Amino acid sequence: MLRFITGGNYFSSGNEPAENNPVTPMLRHLIYKIKSTGPITVAEYMKEVLTNPAKGYYVYRDMLGEQGDFITSPEISQIFGELLGIWFISEWMATGKSTAFQLVELGPGRGTLVGDILRVFTQLGSVLKNCDISVHLVEVSQKLSEIQALTLTEEKVPLERNVGSPVYMKGVTKSGIPISWYRRLHDVPKGYSFYLAHEFFDVLPVHKFQKTPQGWREVFIDIDPQISDKLRFVLAPSATPAEAFIQHDETRDHVEVCPDAGVIIEELSQRIALTGGAALVADYGHDGTKTDTFRGFCGHKLHDVLIAPGTADLTADVDFSYLRRMAQGKVASLGPIKQHTFLKNMGIDVRLKVLLDKSNEPSVRQQLLQGYDMLMNPKKMGERFNFFALLPHERLQGGRHQRNARQSKPFASLVAGFSELAWQ
Ligand code: SAH
Repeated sequence: MLRFITGGNYFSSGNEPAENNPVTPMLRHLIYKIKSTGPITVAEYMKEVLTNPAKGYYVYRDMLGEQGDFITSPEISQIFGELLGIWFISEWMATGKSTAFQLVELGPGRGTLVGDILRVFTQLGSVLKNCDISVHLVEVSQKLSEIQALTLTEEKVPLERNVGSPVYMKGVTKSGIPISWYRRLHDVPKGYSFYLAHEFFDVLPVHKFQKTPQGWREVFIDIDPQISDKLRFVLAPSATPAEAFIQHDETRDHVEVCPDAGVIIEELSQRIALTGGAALVADYGHDGTKTDTFRGFCGHKLHDVLIAPGTADLTADVDFSYLRRMAQGKVASLGPIKQHTFLKNMGIDVRLKVLLDKSNEPSVRQQLLQGYDMLMNPKKMGERFNFFALLPHERLQGGRHQRNARQSKPFASLVAGFSELAWQ
């Protein structure tokens, strides 16, 4: 077994008193695992804690909303999803109004976002009337997939379930659109698609590295020999394979790398390069500048990542510079740009005014204004969240679209959200 280096206080966790450290079933499982095979990487820890099929945090609970552990933009205001719906329609129009498209969401939570997007599609039914749309959700959580089905599907059409199949559930949405569930993006059919990932990449497992006089050393998680049933961080004594993901000219002294995010971006890029479409990624993150961002959330409060695993969300900021590198050469990327800039460009102020003018109910008006403030205020979500898009190269080169030979208008090189929305 490797001998791990201890004693460094590099990370923002592990300082809770022992009495606040209940032995959860997940902690018991991890202690057993570490005792049998040795310390585990932070990536393995995150993967086990969040998505272990038997005990994972995401698998059996609804953690979203005021009663849960964290709240997301679509849960705060309907305007968020509506503007994203407009973004997809605007891209669909700018790229030649294909006769069919798939809307694919990664990690759809409660299904609120896709519900708001589909409502816009229905409202703009006259624009989309000759287009065959289908919805495809990539979700590992049994509990959340049930909530998504309740939110989105037509009760009178029974759901088809097949636990053993890559398409584990199928149904029809309230607006009559076919909808299917998958555990992996890989299993979603490879057709012309618009992809969406909101607060999805930040839950993917990260490897953490610390620069030492001997070079990069990976952070592992081990059992604390001083306190029973407690975990602690340690450093690997020698190089580990995930070091290959660190840039040669890296100047930070602590980095987090997320190979799973790279795999997903490569897959999205290949699909978009092959069939067209676009991907919109929204998340908190940085452009290759931050260091230790691994943290936990429980009941809307920061939570020590090593305490009571399985009861709190674990997350790390998305490194958009890495996503951009993984897309390079295959597709064009735009962003990251701040959420408040993106939503402003998408016309959030006009949409807010329309909704305010429609409502005389003071509580509704107050909710709309509070929601707007949460999404847009730079001190709240406005600057913390970023938008990033993957698009076929032709989309930005001002060429002629190939999908609809009848229309010979050149591409508009402006992409809504990243510049002001302009209907063509
Ligand atoms: N997009 C939603 C939910 C964000 S929470 C919103 O903004 O409200 C993260 C979502 O990703 C949850 O639905 C969770 O179950 C799902 N998820 C987590 N890890 C996943 C994985 N490896 N593959 C697919 N879905 C995953």
